[in-house]
Amino acid sequence: CGIFAYLNYQVPRTRKEIFETLVKGLQRLEYRGYDSAGIAVDAPGKGTGKDRDANNNICLIKKKGKVKALDEELYKGSSKDLEEELETHFGIAHTRWATHGEPSPINSHPHRSDKNNEFVVVHNGIITNYKELKKYLNSKGYEFESETDTEVIPKLIKYVYDNREREDMSFTTLVERVIQQLEGAFALVFKSSRYPGQAVATRRGSPLLIGVRSQFALPSENIPIQYNSGRISDGVQERNNWNKTEAGGVEQQEVVDAKAVEYYFASDASAIIEHTNRVIYLEDDDIAAVAKGKLSLHRVSRRTGEDPSRVIQTLQ
Ligand code: GLU
Repeated sequence: CGIFAYLNYQVPRTRKEIFETLVKGLQRLEYRGYDSAGIAVDAPGKGTGKDRDANNNICLIKKKGKVKALDEELYKGSSKDLEEELETHFGIAHTRWATHGEPSPINSHPHRSDKNNEFVVVHNGIITNYKELKKYLNSKGYEFESETDTEVIPKLIKYVYDNREREDMSFTTLVERVIQQLEGAFALVFKSSRYPGQAVATRRGSPLLIGVRSQFALPSENIPIQYNSGRISDGVQERNNWNKTEAGGVEQQEVVDAKAVEYYFASDASAIIEHTNRVIYLEDDDIAAVAKGKLSLHRVSRRTGEDPSRVIQTLQ
């Protein structure tokens, strides 16, 4: 029932500092309810820095119970790993309030696409059409390990990735296609070993905001939204048609120029405010993407009368 994620770009942080940031964020969200907690971070590698893990492997750590139980688990690794300094790192974290499937490590978030943890996701909300999606994905050979509604999401993004029609399809586009298939309420943050150092977040019905902290001045103006051509599937008929248009201009336009920046994603401002008071509230179906430290905002199409930008607010 609480999402927290953290990304540093050219702001060196040790793995220990990243753990502490994630845990503190989760603890601020515990009041929203919890029965288990988990995180996904880059796996510690054999070397340090850029040689860390050639495969960009992701590891998942999940625990039933309070965030404190998860916290203790995190420090069981070697102290060398904990002191490893990471210039770019993206970690996602979750406290769960079970709606589908009992509280257990396997049902805890983050959920994953496959045994290699290629795509991992944290979800707040309920996917009401998960049975239909699960049936479809099962028929395509994707195997499920949990009883949650959430698990269709990482399986679905892997399915879209495996069947992508262009080799260089962006992470944003994958997520855009995924949310067109989802019904219900969600706030989602995705991480992938296929897109190292990149974050994609989106929401519909459940809250999600982004905090931005930079060593350089942030723009005071609004952040423009990039729309794709506006094609959207809205019926069961279109459901399994993955041949849709590419998300617009993903690489073109940065809104926060990232020389040294930290991003926070959270269900609630209370988890972000100790780090920064500059925040962006996402609206339904907004997709926020961070690549190479740059943030951009996307939507499939523009709603009538919609302001084509989002404000970087300063919380008091
Ligand atoms: N429906 C999901 C589950 O049961 C997410 C619950 C939540 O928001 O914590 O795992």
